[in-house]
Amino acid sequence: MRLTNEESAALLNKFWSGQPVPSPKTGRPMRAFFVDRTFNPQVVMIGGAGEHLRFDQKPRQIEFSAGHIKSMVRDAKERENPVCPQDFEPLVVARTPAVRFPNEWDWQFHCPKCFSFGGWEYTDKKDDVVAKPAVRKDAPAFHDETIPLPKRMEMAKGGDLALKLYAAMAQTDCTACGWDCEGYAKAIADGTEKNISLCVPGKAETEDVLKKLVAGTYSFA
Ligand code: SF4
Ligand SMILES: [Zn+2]
Repeated sequence: MRLTNEESAALLNKFWSGQPVPSPKTGRPMRAFFVDRTFNPQVVMIGGAGEHLRFDQKPRQIEFSAGHIKSMVRDAKERENPVCPQDFEPLVVARTPAVRFPNEWDWQFHCPKCFSFGGWEYTDKKDDVVAKPAVRKDAPAFHDETIPLPKRMEMAKGGDLALKLYAAMAQTDCTACGWDCEGYAKAIADGTEKNISLCVPGKAETEDVLKKLVAGTYSFA
């Protein structure tokens, strides 16, 4: 039995939110667990009668943030392909007539790779789509994913190691690493996290800078 992306996403959503996961065949709860392997972490679900489902979870499923959703809607409206903020996979986009506004659209987005998901319902607030995602007041100025990495490093030059590590992250707060960007930086700085390759959207560029910062060999431009 092949599941659609939506069906897979719904099962994973139940799993990650701690709810029972019903078998698509019988509706009875399946045994479900996370197999945390470095290269191929998976969620495995086992139902009665030999039912066996596996879902790759690198990166892990998330629900897209409001900021992500807004830029996806903007892209979709401009006929550009919105991509998953975690793995840059082109998203599956569905639109349906908005419930209360028949001339407008509601949007649903699914990532076919990590099964992350999110939806947007049209309201009549004008700035709903064009508004920039709110910046956290206490966030440093470099906490903006549109600023290139070397520039962000320059902005964090006078800070301590944790701040410099923070500046090297991709700044999306996507939580694919298991924290937000600041949390992951702090965990590396205080030694609780040794793995420097967890920033999924930052890719090799971030990892390279993290490696040099930890080794004390990073030189500012
Ligand atoms: S540091 Fe973590 S939260 Fe920030 S962009 Fe990278 S993976 Fe996402
Ligand atoms: Zn994805």
